[in-house]
Amino acid sequence: MANLGEMTFRESVDLMFSKAAKLSNLEPGLEERIKTCNSTYTVRFSINIKGKIETFVGYRAVHSEHMEPVKGGIRYAETVNQDEVEALAALMTYKCAVVEAPFGGSKGGLCINPNNYDTNDLELITRRFATELIKRDLISPSQNVPAPDMGTGEREMAWIADQYLRLNPTDINASACVTGKPINKWGINGRTEATGRGVQYALREFFRHPEDIKIAGLDGSLSNKRVIIQGLGNVGYYASKFLQDEDNCNIIGIIERDGALVNKNGIDVEKVKEHIMNTSSIKGYVDAKYIENGNSILESDCDILIPAALEGVINVSNAAKVRAPLIIEAANGPITHGADEILKEKGTIIIPDMYANAGGVTVSYFEWVKNLSRIRFGRMQRREEETRNNLLVNELSKLDNLLDDQWSMSDEFKTRYLRGAGELELVRSGLDDTMRNAYQQISENWKSNDNIHDLRTSAYVLAIKKIADSYRAQGIY
Ligand code: NAD
Repeated sequence: MANLGEMTFRESVDLMFSKAAKLSNLEPGLEERIKTCNSTYTVRFSINIKGKIETFVGYRAVHSEHMEPVKGGIRYAETVNQDEVEALAALMTYKCAVVEAPFGGSKGGLCINPNNYDTNDLELITRRFATELIKRDLISPSQNVPAPDMGTGEREMAWIADQYLRLNPTDINASACVTGKPINKWGINGRTEATGRGVQYALREFFRHPEDIKIAGLDGSLSNKRVIIQGLGNVGYYASKFLQDEDNCNIIGIIERDGALVNKNGIDVEKVKEHIMNTSSIKGYVDAKYIENGNSILESDCDILIPAALEGVINVSNAAKVRAPLIIEAANGPITHGADEILKEKGTIIIPDMYANAGGVTVSYFEWVKNLSRIRFGRMQRREEETRNNLLVNELSKLDNLLDDQWSMSDEFKTRYLRGAGELELVRSGLDDTMRNAYQQISENWKSNDNIHDLRTSAYVLAIKKIADSYRAQGIY
């Protein structure tokens, strides 16, 4: 991450917002109302870790409460600071509006390197951080619902949910206080991979728009496109794995914190992940060339660049050298405002973070609804659907017999058609629908409006319209 005298992450987000707000015909004061972060709580707490008292600093920012609860992940990283948390909270507000998840925006973070602590320490720290937030309604099923982000996952979410339940044993909606929980702790199928899956669905939808493909200077379908990915964590791993396994993409570069791997014939994502799990590094992986200066690979020739690690990696120092015609922001804020201007000038098409990585919050929304309704999706209708499908297949089988060798129903069709949708299929369908609809709106708004020259501005304009309408409807007091 580099700043090189550029504005901060929050200033960058605010400036992109303000440019879009100028195109949005807002009444005086409303732009400021939407842009302002409503509150940021800073907490410092101490824990005795193996005989030594350590003090930790954490934040929870609430950007906008035009809809409640507010929603946004909790990040564990040494670099966490108030500016970053507020920028991420603002992005959450706009992201939820773009994909029509009925939440305001929030974000939390703890300044910690989780790799320096064992599981017991992390549980102690997480439960204490959660307690501090729960006491102030900054974790609550009806007011503020966190989720995983960098450095956290379903394990931390399970601890947070349990801590909330201990402090609120009579709250029947306790499980909805946080999303991204494990399946056996009130989670939902498909949440772990949802952000990466959303990136895949976003790219699929982009490649259903011939005009957009042409503007990017690309052609054809997603198949065989040369992809470089940065960050093989939760988002990057699933995005690149699905693109490789299901869309036949050629992953030619993987950038991690300790260097990069390149191979123009393709790199097996699953094998690299295994290698990282076994050695905690990408060094020593044999089926690709190791490059020590990992970030230099952001500038390599490819069709699609997917920054999926952290913010500010494409900045004024390297933007002009980035060769990818299409960048999809799987991470939050990977392109600074300065870099965005340079890339736009070059004609690079950027699928913006507030849409591209919204798969996580979309499936979190489904999980929250599941928790409130206390029933697994598909439980009521799956077998009924199978019974109906069976009726049709039985009738068609009669035709199959009559038509003899002129027509026959394949076994594969029968098996697939007969299977009713379970929770995972429904979650995928809901996510796919969300990503498709949102892209169609953003793309249409971009191409039909002379003042909108890029997908990011288009997404902001759409988000601003939805949030402004919400404020207008509720009144401001
Ligand atoms: P993660 O902690 O699971 O993974 C981050 C990965 O990036 C790790 O593999 C890490 O080693 C790598 N990394 C760290 N520093 C790096 C560097 N300097 N260069 C290259 N790689 C580096 O985090 P994640 O949950 O995958 O989140 C990644 C990004 O996606 C963040 O910006 C986050 O805010 C965003 N995001 C995550 C979710 C989610 O559901 N997890 C949802 C929306 C957005």
